[in-house]
Amino acid sequence: MRLRNVPGAREVMIENQYVYTEPEGMRGTWKEVFGNENPIHIEIGMGKGRFISTLAQMHPAINYIGIEKYSSVLLRAVEKQDELQLPNLRFIRMDAEAIGEVFGEGEVDQIYLNFSDPWPKDRHAKRRLTSRQFLERYDGILRKDGKVEFKTDNRALFEFSLEEVKEAGWNLDAHTFDLHHEESMNEGNVMTEYEQRFSEMGNPICKLIASRDFKK
Ligand code: SAM
Repeated sequence: MRLRNVPGAREVMIENQYVYTEPEGMRGTWKEVFGNENPIHIEIGMGKGRFISTLAQMHPAINYIGIEKYSSVLLRAVEKQDELQLPNLRFIRMDAEAIGEVFGEGEVDQIYLNFSDPWPKDRHAKRRLTSRQFLERYDGILRKDGKVEFKTDNRALFEFSLEEVKEAGWNLDAHTFDLHHEESMNEGNVMTEYEQRFSEMGNPICKLIASRDFKK
C-alpha cells in the first residue's frame, strides 16, 4: 500500500483516548478497557477503518479493536471515532507480528483480515497475515470456537491462504472466489475501502472463513 506520511499523525495517536500505542501491558485486560464482558472482535490491517467502524455502529453489544501499523493510515479512523465516540471501538497502532504479546489466551472472539498486503516475494511469505506463522499466533489468542474471516481480490494470496489454512490444521468452514455473487456468504457483507475500490474495477472478491477443532 502506498503510504503518505501525515505530519503530526504519530503525536495524535499517542494522545488520543481511543488509541493504544504501547499495548504490550494490556494483555488480559481488554474487557476492563470496555468495562463489560462483551465479545471482542479485532480487524488486523484495518487501514482507514470503514469496515470496523460500521460494524461497531451495527453491533453495540460487541467490542471492536482495529489494528493498524501506520499512524498516517489510522488517522482517518481516529478522526471519525472522535466524532462518533462509539463506546465499543478502540484502535491499536502496532505491527501485528507482536499480537501474542497484546492479547491473552482466548481473549479474542473473532479475527477479520481484509485485503491484507500480499507480500508477493516467496521469501516474505511469513509476513502475509494468513501465513501459518500468523495462524499460529491467532491460535494463541482466539477463543477455541472463534473464527478468522479473510477477504481479498488477490487470487494468488487467496490460494496461498487456502493452503496455509490446511497446512496449519485449521478447518475451512466456507470459501468463495466471488463473494458478491454468492448470496449466502454475501448476506450482511460490510464493504471495506479496498473492497469497494477493487469490486468497482470488476475484480471478483474472494472470502474464506476458518476455525479450529474444539470441544466445549
Ligand atoms: N483493511 C483495509 C481495507 O480492506 O480497506 C485496508 C487494506 S490495506 C491494503 C492493508 C492495511 O494493512 C494497510 O493499512 C497496512 O498498513 C496494514 N498492515 C499490513 N501489515 C500489517 C501488520 N503486520 N500489522 C498491522 N497492520 C498491517
